[in-house]
Amino acid sequence: MIGQILLVILLFLLSIIVIIVAVTAVRSYRFRPHPDSEESEYQPTNDTAPAEKLAEAVRLRTISHMNSQDTDWSEFDKFRELLEQQFPLVHKNCVRTVINGYSLSFQWKSKAAASLKPILITAHMDVVPVEEETVADWVHPAFDGSIAEGFLWGRGTLDIKIHLIAALEAVERLMKEGYKPARDIYLAFGHDEEIDGMQGAYHIEKYYAEQGLSFEYVLDEGGFVANSLMEGIDKPVALVGIGEKGFANIRLSVTSDGGHSSMPSKNSSLGILAKALCRLEKHSCRPRLIPSVRQFLMDIGPYMKGINHLILANLWLFQPLFLKIFSGTSMGGALLKTTVALTMAQGSPAPNILPQKSSAVINCRILPGETGEDLMKYLRKVLRGIPIELEPLVLDNPSKISPTDSESYQRIGNLIKKYCNHAVVVPYLVMASTDARKYESVCENIYRFTPYQIDMADTEKIHGTNERISVENINRCVDFFTELMKS
Ligand SMILES: [Zn+2]
Repeated sequence: MIGQILLVILLFLLSIIVIIVAVTAVRSYRFRPHPDSEESEYQPTNDTAPAEKLAEAVRLRTISHMNSQDTDWSEFDKFRELLEQQFPLVHKNCVRTVINGYSLSFQWKSKAAASLKPILITAHMDVVPVEEETVADWVHPAFDGSIAEGFLWGRGTLDIKIHLIAALEAVERLMKEGYKPARDIYLAFGHDEEIDGMQGAYHIEKYYAEQGLSFEYVLDEGGFVANSLMEGIDKPVALVGIGEKGFANIRLSVTSDGGHSSMPSKNSSLGILAKALCRLEKHSCRPRLIPSVRQFLMDIGPYMKGINHLILANLWLFQPLFLKIFSGTSMGGALLKTTVALTMAQGSPAPNILPQKSSAVINCRILPGETGEDLMKYLRKVLRGIPIELEPLVLDNPSKISPTDSESYQRIGNLIKKYCNHAVVVPYLVMASTDARKYESVCENIYRFTPYQIDMADTEKIHGTNERISVENINRCVDFFTELMKS
């Protein structure tokens, strides 16, 4: 009798396993990419004329500094004059407005009093400095604007003078052809994005809001087409930023008695601070799969191979396992968690002085769905019992998430496929901050994407050494913007 019952249970369990395996296999089989369009492959030209214009823009050192007195504002004046020279038709036919001294807005009016909402293409003209110790490591100096080996080399080529020059070149080209847009096209270029955009994009947005403008879409920097994005995917992947994580710098400080280091006490402020920092590193935030990241995975999953494909096709079964494994990678951790990075620390000013105050700054990136307040609550909870003070220096909430079912997203996606080797277009959560979020009050559909196609390894050159862009990519960007403005 007992033997029979055991047999029934065994059979029952076996059939459940068979069902799970069958469902997993079927779902995995059906998790296939959409067929590629038949459209013929676009091939960018090697025409160096747009690259020459970008090279001139790179030669101007429009470096923005935290302390505005350190910024050489004459370079920004020269930059504005250069644009006047390079794009005479744009300056003749657009309404140009200088905002807050250095930022620029261009309005290209449509042929009729249009009922269509305007669009906005935006970028920034400032760049980050080149660190003194790395100057010698550049193959071609960062501000020479050299065109060599098929590339234009220099600071600002990828971030993000390309977006700015390509958009202007597209308008200039269309004006030369006598084209008139069906809706107003705005171009806006901030001058302090690399700091926080509070002098540039913030004021541009105010200016547009005052005029009661509402844009169909905004296209800013923040995404690109990546070759070899991750293991198991051969196709290029176009990362279209639909939102940004929040940003926080928080100072942690501990005070103690101080004194001479020959007679140390048991609880130094530095020791207490170290304990707090260790605790923060040990207790990382819980991973969560937010809807926009889920969609990123669902769109990219069909193109993956092997175990990754199987897991993503069957998140109903593997989600806990997936969260555990993927959040352990640096990219996965950034997509699934609010991250806490320990970046700066300070004790006493000399080796033989006990610190009266020790402090550290941590840099956090907040996942959409959470707020700066949630982050502070979380930090206090983890550090409970440690006598430490927390002071937010910067505390910006995550941006809104733009829709992926909008006509604008579809239109941009179709153009990406055409101009970027049938890349897989996926929505992406941008980990860094851009000017884009400043435009939330004048637009719902904010996308972050520049149509250059680079290897993942080359992303290190952004803000780094040997930043460069291929001549082909420059032409690709111009052609892409030209068609975008026409469509
Ligand atoms: Zn940038």
